[in-house]
Amino acid sequence: MRWQVSTVLAVFTCMGMFSEARGQQKVEGGAQVLMLSGGQRNHHGYRRQAYLLQKLLEDTKQLQVTISEDAAILETPALAKYDLIVAMADRRDPEFRFTEGQQKALIQFVHDGKGLFSLHGFCCAEQHWRPEMRDMLGGVLSHVGTPDTKVKFGKYPLKIADSSHPITQGAKDFEHEDELYYELQTQGEPIKPLVSAVYEGKEWPVLWTREFGKGKVCVSVFGHCGVQAKSKDPLEHEPFQRLVVRGVLWTAGREGK
Ligand SMILES: [Zn+2]
Repeated sequence: MRWQVSTVLAVFTCMGMFSEARGQQKVEGGAQVLMLSGGQRNHHGYRRQAYLLQKLLEDTKQLQVTISEDAAILETPALAKYDLIVAMADRRDPEFRFTEGQQKALIQFVHDGKGLFSLHGFCCAEQHWRPEMRDMLGGVLSHVGTPDTKVKFGKYPLKIADSSHPITQGAKDFEHEDELYYELQTQGEPIKPLVSAVYEGKEWPVLWTREFGKGKVCVSVFGHCGVQAKSKDPLEHEPFQRLVVRGVLWTAGREGK
């Protein structure tokens, strides 16, 4: 009997595994998303998060996602077929560091009218970044220069600072557990937060949009997915997930429905 139960469990486990294996979805007429991820690192579970976010975006039936971990694609003719980039990896790490050419290509891509959604670690500025990279994002984490950006895990009350924007329309204040970057270094047009986190009696911007040339940019400070297999991905938290999906739709020029 015991053997039978474990056999049944094994079968169910296998079935579960198959249902977890998700292929790319064909999204007819969908905006083409290049998801610039970063493989498996010792501090962020990028690959696991990329698969989850791919599914969330393709389930909107308005976005079709291609995942790339190598930024070399930025300097190839293939870049032209994409409408927006979702960048999620901290590119200060040696193997992910943008070359000068890759930075120029990304800056040009957005400036010419495409979209950029920056999730969590991507806004960690490498000290040799071109200044336009900082202009494009508006606020970055940096430990070089001032202020020295702080990092803190916690559960934060989030306030919808502007509910008139398509991304935040209908959203209510909520509590969210994640890794906060605060005291960001800012550049260019001041950040107008759509969502702020309350910490130490202050409100820190955690989601904002900006225009860069003809392009649309949306930055989410939150989105820390731990590297352990059991670590929770904040994208599983529905109110946060909704903001990210709508943010990506907005950068694609397709408002969230
Ligand atoms: Zn993190």
